[in-house]
Amino acid sequence: MTVYDYDLGILGGGAAGLTVASGAAQLGARTLLVEKEPDLGGDCLHYGCVPSKTLIKTARVFHQLKNASRYGLPQQTAPPVDFKAVATRIREVIDTIQRHDSVMRFCNLGVKVLFGQPRFTDDHTIDLNGKSVTARTWVIATGSSPAIPTLEGLDRTPYLTNREIFSLERLPGELIILGGGPIAIEMAQAFRRLGSRVSVIQRSEEILSKEDRDLAETVRQVLVSEGVEFYLGCKLKRVDSLGERREVSIETATGDTLVVTGSDLLVALGRSTNTEGLGLEQIGVACDHRGIKVDRRLRTSHNHIFAAGDVIGGYQFTHAAGYEGGIVISNAVLHLPRKVDYTWMPWCTYTAPELASIGHNEKSARRAGLEYRVWTEEFRTNDRALAEGDETGRIKLLLDRHDHALGVQILGPHAGDLLGEWVALLNGGMKLSRLAGAIHPYPTLSEINKKVVGAVYAEKIFSDKARAVLKFLFNFKGRAC
Ligand SMILES: Cc1cc2nc3c(=O)[nH]c(=O)nc-3n(C[C@H](O)[C@H](O)[C@H](O)COP(=O)(O)OP(=O)(O)OC[C@H]3O[C@@H](n4cnc5c(N)ncnc54)[C@H](O)[C@@H]3O)c2cc1C
Repeated sequence: MTVYDYDLGILGGGAAGLTVASGAAQLGARTLLVEKEPDLGGDCLHYGCVPSKTLIKTARVFHQLKNASRYGLPQQTAPPVDFKAVATRIREVIDTIQRHDSVMRFCNLGVKVLFGQPRFTDDHTIDLNGKSVTARTWVIATGSSPAIPTLEGLDRTPYLTNREIFSLERLPGELIILGGGPIAIEMAQAFRRLGSRVSVIQRSEEILSKEDRDLAETVRQVLVSEGVEFYLGCKLKRVDSLGERREVSIETATGDTLVVTGSDLLVALGRSTNTEGLGLEQIGVACDHRGIKVDRRLRTSHNHIFAAGDVIGGYQFTHAAGYEGGIVISNAVLHLPRKVDYTWMPWCTYTAPELASIGHNEKSARRAGLEYRVWTEEFRTNDRALAEGDETGRIKLLLDRHDHALGVQILGPHAGDLLGEWVALLNGGMKLSRLAGAIHPYPTLSEINKKVVGAVYAEKIFSDKARAVLKFLFNFKGRAC
């Protein structure tokens, strides 16, 4: 029997890789984790979720300060933002969380952590810093990087991506953002709130194009009201660097050429998967333009090489990477065949208002040819939302013709957290009546979850038929006014 250095080798120390490493080592597998950057934690910790949500919080505080009079307070004159101080706070939050993802912690769990650029030399062996390391099973969890378009002039123009934007030395005076996805839109609002002039250039006519148009459009209207400029349906033609200025030439939907100028350019045009340099072609691990190809057990074209997280090009979220890490542990360590099931994959875009989603929205239900009905409730009828001054948004519940939930979208304050109740309900396979009958504390935003389901049952309970039966049974006299 071949003897390997490790039972399990993992490439990439981000959300997916760390999940697999900690689970595998605690289950007794001799585990190696290889990371190419100097620290563990991956994009989420260093250049993604953590810095972006920290920045968003800072921007929200500043926005509320500038709008103090909305809350009955004296109007404040806010001095300009010192972005260095903002970046310092971001760094502090990253450093605090980094302790949880430290080499020491993983070593204590029993994981050997090595740093360097690995390359497969055969399907059980990598070359790492000039040495061969073997493992019986490998997991590729190398994540993704900002996708950089082939755009004339971009190679000669300084631009920012999510890797630089959170550690800037100064606040961009005028930020041009290429892209209209979640990262672009979160950054657009945050930088606008901090005082940058922000222009968003997007190829499609919509922003957040996976979301239902009505909800995405409400987000856009909020950003417009805060001063973000949008150029929708525009093709990028070229970019130029004029010393301290950046110039982006675009072709508008009507065929006109426009030039958008600014001090800084942020490229947020999606992600490309990190597969280069790993030697995957040589060992026959199949990849396509989306990333590494896997089956539902997350096996690549080699049964003993798994892949998880952004690198497989599916749902590119930290919680998806963590979930897939768990699937890999089942299959690769416990040898229990377990397949991925993304039916109830939730996600959230952390604008204000937040836009959170689970299951089908109208767009995806139509695409899947599903019959559905939509129930909505507005946050302006939620007492807590009014007290908070956060009444923009609504909840949408999609039901099939048997009144089973197909999906829920929440646009509103703390939508990501409000979705938690639906995550539990839908994964638990509970009936909607359980939510309708549950007691929620008053006044809370979560009452909107109960209210939207209540409306479904109200239609049945307060019907002509019910009134007729009760009249027959109890001789009710009907309306008094
Ligand atoms: C600005 C931004 C905001 C985001 N906000 C959210 C959010 O709010 N919520 C959410 O769920 N998701 C968010 N995401 C997405 C989230 O960051 C990713 O989905 C998540 O990090 C994926 O985890 P992963 O383990 O697949 O990849 P990563 O976390 O990127 O980890 C991959 C690791 O592999 C390493 N690596 C790469 N190549 C090699 C190599 N050749 N050899 C060894 N190691 C290698 C990398 O250095 C990295 O440490 C955001 C992303 C961005 C960019």
